[in-house]
Amino acid sequence: MTGKLKERVIIVTGASRGIGAATARQLVQAGANVILTARSAQTARAAGEETGAALALACDVTDNAAVTDAVSQVEKRFGRIDAIVNNAGTIEPIGSIIDTDPQAWADAIRTNLVGVYHCVRAVLPTMLRTGGGTIVNLSTGAAFRPLEGWSAYCSSKAGLAMFTRTIAHEYGEQGVSAIGLSPGLVDTGMQSSVRSAGINPVSQIPQEDLTPPQEPAMAIAWLCGPDGASYAGSEVDIRDPEFRKAAGLQPL
Ligand code: NDP
Repeated sequence: MTGKLKERVIIVTGASRGIGAATARQLVQAGANVILTARSAQTARAAGEETGAALALACDVTDNAAVTDAVSQVEKRFGRIDAIVNNAGTIEPIGSIIDTDPQAWADAIRTNLVGVYHCVRAVLPTMLRTGGGTIVNLSTGAAFRPLEGWSAYCSSKAGLAMFTRTIAHEYGEQGVSAIGLSPGLVDTGMQSSVRSAGINPVSQIPQEDLTPPQEPAMAIAWLCGPDGASYAGSEVDIRDPEFRKAAGLQPL
C-alpha cells in the first residue's frame, strides 16, 4: 500500500484513538495527506504528532458549525477532498431501553448518524466540484441485528447503513463512492466498554480474540484507493473472504 495514496487528501474523524488513529497512521504510510480530527484540540494535536497527519483539527461531529469550519480549512489548504472516513462513534449508552438516559440515547444518534450527515453534507460540494470522492462509513453487524442493551447503537448504525445507500443513490453517478465497512470485533476502547458492561454475548468475547485496529485500517486505506470504487454503494464485512482477498488481507 506504500505510496498508493500519494497526494490524496483524506479526512479521518474521531481519530484520537482506536480504529481512527490506526487508520490515520495507515493512510500516512500510504502517502496520503491526512487530516485527522478529534474532539478536543489537545487530543487532535497529540494524535496528529503521533500519526504524522498533515493537519490535526479539533472537531466534534455533533457540532455542525465545527464540522463546516474544519472542512473549509481543509478546502483552503489542499483545494480538494478525495475521501472521508466517518469513524467517530460511540457505543454508549449501554443498557436496557427503560434503564437508558434519554439524553445519552439521543446523543448516540447525534454522534453515530447526525454527525456523519454533518460531515458528508460538508464535504460533498468539494468532492462534486473535483469529479467525486470516497466516503467510508464505519458500520457494524449490529446495524442489521438487535443486540440486548445496545438499542441506541443498533438504531443509529441501522440509520447510518441507510444513509450510506442514500448517498450512493443521490451522488453515485457523479463519482461519489459511499461504502459501509463493518470492521469486525476490534480491540479498542469501545470493546473495553462492551466487556465492562457485561450485557450481551459480545461482552463475553475475550480480548485476545479481538482483531487489532491495524487490520480495519488496512481495509479502509484500500477502500480509499483506486480499487475501492468496486464496492461503491455497498456494505462490506471485513470477514468476507472475497473482500479480504481483494484488499490484500490474510485469509481468516
Ligand atoms: P473507540 O471508542 O476506541 O474510539 C471512538 C473515537 O470516536 C474516539 O476517537 C472518540 O473521541 C471519537 N468520538 C466519539 N464521539 C465523537 C464526537 N462526537 N465527535 C468526534 N469524535 C468522536 O471506538 P473504535 O475505534 O472501536 O470505533 C471506531 C468506529 O468503528 C466507530 O464508529 C464504531 O462504531 C465502529 N466499529 C467498531 C467496532 C469494534 O469492535 N471496535 C465494531 C464495529 C464498528 P474521544 O477520544 O474524544 O472520545
